[in-house]
Amino acid sequence: MIASETIFTRVLIVGAGPAGLGVGLALQKTGVADMLIIDAREIGASFRAWTAGMSMLTPSFHSNAFGLTDLNAINPESSPADFLRTQHPDGLGYAAYLDAVAGHHQLPVSTGMEVTAIDRQADHFIVHLKNGGTIHCDFLVWAAGQFFSPRDRDFSGAEHAIHSSRVKDWSALSGDSFTIIGGYESGIDAALRLFDLGKSVRILSRGEPWSSDHPDPSRSLSPRTFDRLRAALRHPERKERIEFSKNTDIRRIEAGDGFWILYDHDELPIVCKTQPILANGYQSGLGLASSLFNVDAHGLPIFTEEADESTLTPGLFYSGPSLVHRKSLFCFVYKFRARFGVIAAEIASRLGKTQIDEKLLPYLKAGFMNSDLDCCTNCECAIESQHDAPEPAQFSQSS
Ligand SMILES: Cc1cc2nc3c(=O)[nH]c(=O)nc-3n(C[C@H](O)[C@H](O)[C@H](O)COP(=O)(O)OP(=O)(O)OC[C@H]3O[C@@H](n4cnc5c(N)ncnc54)[C@H](O)[C@@H]3O)c2cc1C
Repeated sequence: MIASETIFTRVLIVGAGPAGLGVGLALQKTGVADMLIIDAREIGASFRAWTAGMSMLTPSFHSNAFGLTDLNAINPESSPADFLRTQHPDGLGYAAYLDAVAGHHQLPVSTGMEVTAIDRQADHFIVHLKNGGTIHCDFLVWAAGQFFSPRDRDFSGAEHAIHSSRVKDWSALSGDSFTIIGGYESGIDAALRLFDLGKSVRILSRGEPWSSDHPDPSRSLSPRTFDRLRAALRHPERKERIEFSKNTDIRRIEAGDGFWILYDHDELPIVCKTQPILANGYQSGLGLASSLFNVDAHGLPIFTEEADESTLTPGLFYSGPSLVHRKSLFCFVYKFRARFGVIAAEIASRLGKTQIDEKLLPYLKAGFMNSDLDCCTNCECAIESQHDAPEPAQFSQSS
């Protein structure tokens, strides 16, 4: 795109990750051709930026033909397992899969286009780009993800730590003993990577995520992470090299000359000789679009149950891991993809497309068009764990 150019499109999707591409593919199925998908970086940029060696927690398996679509697929027809021949794609592999699907379906993706502001006009949006250009659209799908918005300024002195998403290579960190703030997936992953490199790690966590047996994998560690933890904890030296500190809420960090002091909720100091690692997740994925959504009393964005549209700004839809309905988080690909068909059907219908349900039948059959929000809210379908708590709990230490 030439700087200062103005583009007109009926549907604009911001973000060429799984959420944006997935909605684009569903829209394409309904016959919507006048659309554009833009990305500040490139297709699958967040996956390309993952730390070396990181891989997906959710397993891939090509069982699509039997009605069980690969958990990491972004449309009912494709499968990362089939494409990559692996069960847990790494970031580069998954980005290659996204690239391949977008290429195969000739999705209209333009990269290197960063949105800097959104103006809502009476009946359309004017989206401003960093290069000076603008895009006018009738419908806007915000799918900009969270990865590039780490929570690295959440408390005083947080900037003295290194956020886990910014570590490019765990083996490049110097030192033998590390402190990790956060005990969910990214914290445990960081700990295990360092453990595998022969380092000692101390994990400080607000609660005790490693012993949660909540049936929703968004609220407890994934089975894969438990497998990895068990394998590590079987190691004879584990007691010396992995320490779990539960109920430790770090509120402040001070940096000295070659040391760092972490203060918890009781102002108790914890001294570290290597830069602390912050594994506390990401900001809401709504970023620039935040002010165009209503929020509830807890600050969570509100989406229409009909089609994940803003209740404040008609025509603005959201796709991705910040989706919440009835307190359920849709933070994995297999969760938020359940709404791709729902969003596409709504936009296609407003654009006057016909036979939408027929065209999206594969989406409905494959669970990419789920309008039954009760199902994910009550978790009645979840199988209760047979154990009171997963094994790693026994290794927890009180703060
Ligand atoms: C280490 C790690 C492991 C994970 N493992 C799993 C897993 O096993 N299974 C799973 O389902 N999920 C997993 N996730 C979460 C998953 O990566 C995210 O849910 C997913 O990437 C969200 O997809 P998205 O398309 O919303 O966002 P993204 O993939 O982040 O894509 C958003 C895109 O928007 C672009 N963008 C951002 N801002 C702008 C802007 N202003 N203008 C234009 N473009 C913009 C970005 O460049 C980016 O390419 C993992 C995440 C991490 C960090």
